[in-house]
Amino acid sequence: MVDRLVNSEANARRIAIVESCFGSSGQPLAVQGRVLVGEGVLTKICRKKPKARQFFLFNDILVYGNIIINKKKYNKQHVIPLEEVKLESLEDDGQLRNGWLIRTASKSFAVYAATSTEKQEWMAHINKCIEDLLRKSGKKAAEVHAAVWVPDSEANVCMRCKRNQFTVLNRRHHCRKCGDVVCGPCSNKKFLLPSQSSKPLRVCLNCYDILSKAKVQNNYQNSISSKLESKERAGSAESSCEEDSDDKEDSNQPETAPDQPKF
Ligand SMILES: [Zn+2]
Ligand SMILES: [Zn+2]
Repeated sequence: MVDRLVNSEANARRIAIVESCFGSSGQPLAVQGRVLVGEGVLTKICRKKPKARQFFLFNDILVYGNIIINKKKYNKQHVIPLEEVKLESLEDDGQLRNGWLIRTASKSFAVYAATSTEKQEWMAHINKCIEDLLRKSGKKAAEVHAAVWVPDSEANVCMRCKRNQFTVLNRRHHCRKCGDVVCGPCSNKKFLLPSQSSKPLRVCLNCYDILSKAKVQNNYQNSISSKLESKERAGSAESSCEEDSDDKEDSNQPETAPDQPKF
């Protein structure tokens, strides 16, 4: 199916349409050998609340964005190389049904399809693309994946100290290692997580302890390289972006019923 579409005129036209829907907010998508495998609307669990997002599955990347006008205009484009993706099916849980995790080294999140058939289709197609890519490149599936962030609404008190209540002034923070929602004092340390950023990131005190102990062990085995790393750590005090960039307001998003995905 995919091989037949490579270089076909129909495929080139479809990719050009996706590109024009993102306009200047997206990157060029027409690349030699790239095929648009399918598209559809999925509900993505964001930090604040679940949001409808338009997803495009290509044979080498997964692209998604905010829906400004259905089938016409999208923005906030995100591009995920499929080579580093790992899917994980989620059990149905009350209102949250037909979901799975999309995990990568730098970011992991949950998405939900409208029906179980759609879920199966999406997961099967994505997994097939990943398998084909890894087979062609001879690479191994990625093993380190970023934590899935616990949505803000699921924690009214800090998940570490269980005391500190969140308010407008007492802000929630996310540990970049475990994804838990924690208070400031319980996440006042940073640690270098190279798979996510070149700068040290906010981690909870639990994770800091675990990471530090692992590091001490590592340092013992390889003291020279760790000296260089701590020099780097001391040099970059600037804090990383706290917000999930996908979570910014999108008030003009229409409340339309999603169409069936097309593969
Ligand atoms: Zn706390
Ligand atoms: Zn943590």
